[in-house]
Amino acid sequence: MIPLLDNYTSLVATVSHNAQTARQSIPEVLAASKAQSSENLETLLAYGHRLFGENRVQEAAAKWPLLKQRYPDCQLHLIGPLQTNKVKQAVQLFDVIETLDRPTLAHALAKTFAKFNIRRTLLIQVNTGSEPQKAGVLPKEFESLLALARGLNLPVVGLMCVPPIDADPSPHFAMLQTLAKAHSLSYLSMGMSHDYQTAIAYGTSWIRVGTALFGAR
Ligand SMILES: *Cc1c(COP(=O)(O)O)cnc(C)c1O
Repeated sequence: MIPLLDNYTSLVATVSHNAQTARQSIPEVLAASKAQSSENLETLLAYGHRLFGENRVQEAAAKWPLLKQRYPDCQLHLIGPLQTNKVKQAVQLFDVIETLDRPTLAHALAKTFAKFNIRRTLLIQVNTGSEPQKAGVLPKEFESLLALARGLNLPVVGLMCVPPIDADPSPHFAMLQTLAKAHSLSYLSMGMSHDYQTAIAYGTSWIRVGTALFGAR
């Protein structure tokens, strides 16, 4: 079997096994496909995988329209920061936008949804480590952003985070889980190649995996 499919099948098996052991529902694997060739994406699509995440609107616009024609049921998530001047393009390309993180973006999304009579499922990205350089709303500003989004009638269904690189991810995943529960948000996007096992224990809905599938970028 080609290495990518080998990685894929063993990842899916490990995730399923670990979720059952942790008595959690089995999360979906979102293939984080930034910097991957269309050939690699096609390999996964042909095998039956349908869920992908891209970081940049521009890169997704180059790779995905053709693939989406061939596999109309594939689901594409935006998992990187979104600039307000790219909102229109993002809304046309992505099924789910995981990175709502500030009031200006909430307003821009609401305006674009209304203008094009279109709606996209949203997650709020929380900067759980309050890292100055990182995207995501600060935990102390989360509630007011959620209230704004709900006031604008945006379909926010869950939360996403990327914990600080060298920290134990557990308290970050715990924080996200607690925030989601407290606000009746059903979905969590957390866990990457190095920490998805921990995220499973905190009941994640989607794990975003790049390196463990495709190898080092
Ligand atoms: C690249 C990326 C991932 C995947 O990271 P790996 O460590 O390669 O699994 C997940 N989430 C986001 C937001 C990313 O940018």
